[in-house]
Amino acid sequence: MSISIFVIAEHLEGTLADMTFEMLGKARQLADEHGGMVTAVLAGYNVAQLAEQLGAADALILIEDELLAEFAPQPYQDVISGLIRERAPGLVMVGSTSMGLDLAAALATTLNVPMLSSCIDLSVEDDAYVVTSQLYGGKIMMETAVTAGTAIAQILPGAFRAEDGQRAGTPTLEEIPPGLHPENFRMRFENFIKPEAGDIDITQAPILVSVGRGIQTQENIALAEELAEALGGSVSSSRPIVDQDWLPVTRQVGKSGMSVKPRLYLALGISGAPEHVEGMKNADLIVAVNTDPDAPIFSVAHYGVVADIFDVMPALEERLGERVS
Ligand SMILES: Cc1cc2nc3c(=O)[nH]c(=O)nc-3n(C[C@H](O)[C@H](O)[C@H](O)COP(=O)(O)OP(=O)(O)OC[C@H]3O[C@@H](n4cnc5c(N)ncnc54)[C@H](O)[C@@H]3O)c2cc1C
Repeated sequence: MSISIFVIAEHLEGTLADMTFEMLGKARQLADEHGGMVTAVLAGYNVAQLAEQLGAADALILIEDELLAEFAPQPYQDVISGLIRERAPGLVMVGSTSMGLDLAAALATTLNVPMLSSCIDLSVEDDAYVVTSQLYGGKIMMETAVTAGTAIAQILPGAFRAEDGQRAGTPTLEEIPPGLHPENFRMRFENFIKPEAGDIDITQAPILVSVGRGIQTQENIALAEELAEALGGSVSSSRPIVDQDWLPVTRQVGKSGMSVKPRLYLALGISGAPEHVEGMKNADLIVAVNTDPDAPIFSVAHYGVVADIFDVMPALEERLGERVS
């Protein structure tokens, strides 16, 4: 089977989103293993300069128009569905992001093709794309084989490594006219409402010391802050900590918070509910400390310590201090 995958590039204010590279890296891997083509589709306005970052693709299709300057569902659906209809790729990868959620379902209905949501893995077996989707917050995994035609795969952020899609290369460039008819569009982009700045971005932190209800009081979070500083990391948390206003919502990991992928995720007094695990299970190394040996967090942790976090935190800090001095 020869691979034919379109990756819909996502960008905001002149910067390509990590999601784009996460999808490109996986598509590249499949094309390298099975042969075939990866095509990046870059729609926007004045975005040609982003092309040089899409070297993991074999081909790049650039579609520029003022109406595509900011993401708006209708013009994007128009140009991308027209392209898919004409080129008929086997798989179209779209991010499971606010942009992708608007786009993927509309593409599937416009083109009358299947859409596979919450995808966390992709493979090729027996002449079919096999898409693994995560259902019910990760409690059930579903595998779907796409045996013919085109399918839209909506990829969960963090499922693949962005670094794998950040490669040098010179994809063949094809510019196609958008052929948009503004009179058909009943929605237009108005403006961005940006979240308040000022806090750290836990999705970019290489080391996270994450606290759960086991931390007991707001004052005790200072202990985690100290440990995070000694490790060169940042503090994140489970949802109850944020619900109690002990930390800002920007620190929440999980289904209704951030998906993180640090090199080290130290889970302190976190039970490991599926809604939390969904946001951290892709960390490179997970170390959990919990007094309950049956806590579900131990089933995703690489290393587990059945102990009181108030014993482990100072002991760890002491050892780190010894290493420095
Ligand atoms: C729609 C929906 C969305 C949600 N989204 C999220 C989300 O994004 N993120 C999220 O985290 N949750 C989310 N939740 C909540 C989730 O279901 C859990 O309730 C939550 O993750 C539990 O947080 P916790 O592990 O801190 O607390 P608990 O479940 O109460 O666990 C505390 C743990 O600490 C341990 N412990 C207690 N004292 C100590 C000690 N001294 N030393 C060591 N261990 C100790 C206990 O054994 C226990 O395992 C969501 C729920 C719903 C319904």
